[in-house]
Amino acid sequence: MPADLHVHSTASDGTTRPADVVREAAAVGLDVVALTDHDTTAGHDEALRALPPGLGLLRGAEISCAAGGVSLHLLGYLFDPTESELAAALETLRTSRTGRAERMARRLEADGTGVTWERVRQLACGTVGRPHLARALVEQGLVGAMDEAFTPAWIGTGGRYWEPKAELDVVRGVELVVRAGGVAVFAHPAADARGEVVADDVVVAMAEAGLAGLEVDHVDHDEPARRRLRGLAAELGLLVTGSSDYHGGNKDVPLGAHTTPLDVVEALVDRATGAELVRG
Ligand code: AMP
Ligand code: ZN
Ligand code: FE
Ligand code: FE
Repeated sequence: MPADLHVHSTASDGTTRPADVVREAAAVGLDVVALTDHDTTAGHDEALRALPPGLGLLRGAEISCAAGGVSLHLLGYLFDPTESELAAALETLRTSRTGRAERMARRLEADGTGVTWERVRQLACGTVGRPHLARALVEQGLVGAMDEAFTPAWIGTGGRYWEPKAELDVVRGVELVVRAGGVAVFAHPAADARGEVVADDVVVAMAEAGLAGLEVDHVDHDEPARRRLRGLAAELGLLVTGSSDYHGGNKDVPLGAHTTPLDVVEALVDRATGAELVRG
């Protein structure tokens, strides 16, 4: 199996520790895995220390961005995590996530749901996100499954207990990743089941800012969306990636569910100057 380029761990809203992510990646036969937690690189060191022989680790992050009021996610790979502008931007995003999760939790608490900020904080050992609140709602029996929490009655975007979080302008996001020596890939550009998605002009602007690729093979894209995105990538000279967006027990998709060919991984690695692909 080739490469899975979008994976979450307990450093954000996955349920698998970074060390276990790389062990599982080797066990399912992946050649390369990318660790891309939301707005953080905190899991990288643990993953590196546990890297099984032969497995390649692509260090990255999934950055919370927006364009014209629409939320979107940018995958940054192999950037220098000590580069000050990008590091500061990521820290701002994480700080905002904490305040926003606390506001959501306290409103749930005030309404007598049994969900508490203390419990949500316990569930999040890294970057806090809505999945931690969703899990607390499941624990209280208020919803039957995590999915049901992402609805208007609860914490779905724009929903009753939803609060916005800080997001980075996506063109600036691409520029910051590139300036830090990294490569940028637009994560699940057509995942419209979760909310609004951006039109092609935003992808064009991202490409002009130095975007390297589009994540096309993703569970949230149906076949027509993938065909359309492949066409757009060809038109703009962008690479095409595929990945599981693995979240452990917080999502149904297994590690390696969608993958990226190794020649595409090589092209990404060749463009990066901020960090290297490390082989165990
Ligand atoms: P946040 O970044 O805190 O706004 O939370 C977004 C995260 O929640 C995504 O990265 C997914 O992991 C998860 N998520 C979003 N929508 C759903 C959904 N409908 N069902 C389950 N998980 C979801
Ligand atoms: Zn997530
Ligand atoms: Fe995402
Ligand atoms: Fe993700």
